[in-house]
Amino acid sequence: MAKPDSHSVGRLWIEEGETKTGPTATVAPIAPIDKSYTYAVGPELANKLEVGQRVRVPLGKRGRLVSGFCVALGTEEWRHTLRPIDSVIDDESYLSPQLLDLGQWIARYYCCPLGQTLAALVPEAVRKKSGFVTVRFARLTKPLDGILAASSRVGPKSKALLEVLDSAGRPLETSTLLERAHTTASTLRAAVDKGWVEIITEHHPKPPPRWDMPRVEPSFELNQDQEVAVQRIDKKIDQGGFSVTLLYGVSGSGKTEVYIRTMRHALARGGQVIMLVPEIALTTQLVSRLASRFDDIAVLHSGLTGVERSLTWRAIAGGDRRVVIGTRSAVFAPCPEPSLIVVDEEQEPSYKNLQAPRFHVRDVAIKRAQMSGVPIVLGSATPSLETWLNCTRLAHYERLELPARVRALPLPKVEIADMRTRSPRDGDGPVLSKLMEQKVSDTLDRGEQAVILINRRGYARVIWCPACHWRLRCPECNVGMVFHLTKQQAACHYCRARITVPQLCPNLSCKAPLLQSGAGTQRVEQELNAAFPQARIARADSDTMKRSSDYQSLVDRFTAREIDILLGTQMIGKGLDFPHVSFVGMIGADLAGSSADFRASERLFQLITQVAGRAGREQAGGEVVVQTLVPDAVAVRTAMDHDFRRFAADELDIRRRLGFPPFARLTRFIFADPREREVRKVAEAFADQLRRQLADLSVPNADVLGPHPCALERLRGRYRYDVLLRARRARDMQNVLDGLRGVGMLRQKVKGFVVDVDPLSLT
Ligand code: ADP
Ligand code: ZN
Ligand code: ZN
Repeated sequence: MAKPDSHSVGRLWIEEGETKTGPTATVAPIAPIDKSYTYAVGPELANKLEVGQRVRVPLGKRGRLVSGFCVALGTEEWRHTLRPIDSVIDDESYLSPQLLDLGQWIARYYCCPLGQTLAALVPEAVRKKSGFVTVRFARLTKPLDGILAASSRVGPKSKALLEVLDSAGRPLETSTLLERAHTTASTLRAAVDKGWVEIITEHHPKPPPRWDMPRVEPSFELNQDQEVAVQRIDKKIDQGGFSVTLLYGVSGSGKTEVYIRTMRHALARGGQVIMLVPEIALTTQLVSRLASRFDDIAVLHSGLTGVERSLTWRAIAGGDRRVVIGTRSAVFAPCPEPSLIVVDEEQEPSYKNLQAPRFHVRDVAIKRAQMSGVPIVLGSATPSLETWLNCTRLAHYERLELPARVRALPLPKVEIADMRTRSPRDGDGPVLSKLMEQKVSDTLDRGEQAVILINRRGYARVIWCPACHWRLRCPECNVGMVFHLTKQQAACHYCRARITVPQLCPNLSCKAPLLQSGAGTQRVEQELNAAFPQARIARADSDTMKRSSDYQSLVDRFTAREIDILLGTQMIGKGLDFPHVSFVGMIGADLAGSSADFRASERLFQLITQVAGRAGREQAGGEVVVQTLVPDAVAVRTAMDHDFRRFAADELDIRRRLGFPPFARLTRFIFADPREREVRKVAEAFADQLRRQLADLSVPNADVLGPHPCALERLRGRYRYDVLLRARRARDMQNVLDGLRGVGMLRQKVKGFVVDVDPLSLT
């Protein structure tokens, strides 16, 4: 028999033993607790509480107060033991029913507690009402005659103030009032103290940032392929209903122009449109381009201040901004009625969220489109194999193609610099191949611009001993540390530990001088400076680009041709459109970590293609050099020929044989703990239990791989193991995961326990 909880917080409205029928609320705590609880709704909240609002509720034996989301309201028969909601946190629900549904889907699909998931949907700054201004109004408490009649002495200043208010006939902003009555705040304060006037405070959002640009309509006509694509998508918009369209077009084929036309078509029919891009870096160029084509753009990305985010969010929710462009979080843009969603560069790994909820933005966007019953367009020059395969096997997918660059510009010529001939002892030798150096030199001679990409920042990523092969590793993560010139220190790019690099090998019997190899951006910058002393060179990596304004000014300078050679990590490789770049070089186009990651080959193809796509966008004759240790890899050969189809066919064949995505679904369980034996035991027990579960549930076409030590065996002092669950179909995976959740198997096993559904990285 349930005993009344002596620690319970809040008021109880009925006596012990009684039952009563009354309003209840289901609450999902914002905590790693995968459960919702029912609470009684007290009379003082009965008409106030909304689904989606945050509330404070007592949890556990001791009734500790936690915050949670009200996710359902109902009427139930309850006993006095049903604890009441303590209080409401938000004065409104920021989650529309649609977003709440989407959150519920994410929580289930990605195995994340509902409360935690919902918390990720609305920015904190919105709840804090950042950017709201407080406006104070004054009004008379009763008619002026009444006040004058009841009070024997009303001074002249007060009288003037009261008369202004009286003749206005409505509450006045306090500053306006004082101005009109030619008096000061003390008069007003006195009038309030006497009870003649009362002050009302209101919070109003300021207008959100604007992107006003002169309207510029392009002078060109769409080409035939663009025309067909626009017509097909417009037709789907007109028909209404959910559909997925892959717009597969090489770089510079005019995909963005197709998005713009179809977005306009959708807007003309009402509602709002959302366009997602993978990186903040990309938004800057795109925003200026779209701002000259649309009236009411809203931009959402991680570089906004809290105030900007909050105001933009409000404007979208209120329907004042109808075109939303943004990165990850924009998939949750509070558009009342989205009528079209566009996901540019749908294959981008940065669309995957790396913290719980570990959702993939493209997949959430597809789900959102489905829930809203609207079309979604996925664009790419190198579609993910998942999407590519879906186009051939799912009825609601369609593939449209833009096979050529606009204005019949040829794709750039790609050459390979085979780096295999370098011995690792050339650690201090030049990083730039002769071929690359020659091409840069030719480009500068022609007065054009060059872009050089290298996927590592820092100076050298391997610090090692040529005599005994000792390598400098992070003591916490067991990965190589990267030397940085600026601080003359080695840093771990995983845990940010820094140490001073020894000159000599620390092995006492060795003591040989250490070498540095594996170049990063700083090293290449140094070489470029030495080789081209007259050239203006800029470096863009996360060490130099701390804010989005740094990036914006770099883009502006490069566009204005104040920079000859732009050197950087991937952040400059994606989607940027610089007309005068005729040469692009890529350093280190290798299959690093390929044994750990079945997607390594796909990534390499995407990377080379993306990089190559930056060259020759305005004039014919763009050139690309790719420096690689794997010149014969299929990814390299096919990328060189711009042959995505051949790459996809070849890679899909391998995936099919291995039984890996897109021919199966994976869920990865990671176990991490400082005690190695402990973590291995836990992972083994989990895998055993998982195998038994599969047998019990008799799920066909599902199996368990592992446990294995992760490719990144140790991270921040924790040993890491993983177990992979594989199922043929998404539905099977969901059933298994639901089952595991039901029996509590997804509760935290060790401190660092992670469930990653559809993992992108297996490191
Ligand atoms: P993508 O997104 O496929 O890389 P964009 O849409 O950015 O391609 O187009 C590349 C460039 O070509 C842009 O400057 C764009 O304005 C221009 N462009 C687009 N369509 C046409 C066309 N039909 N004729 C001429 N130029 C075009
Ligand atoms: Zn040594
Ligand atoms: Zn580390």
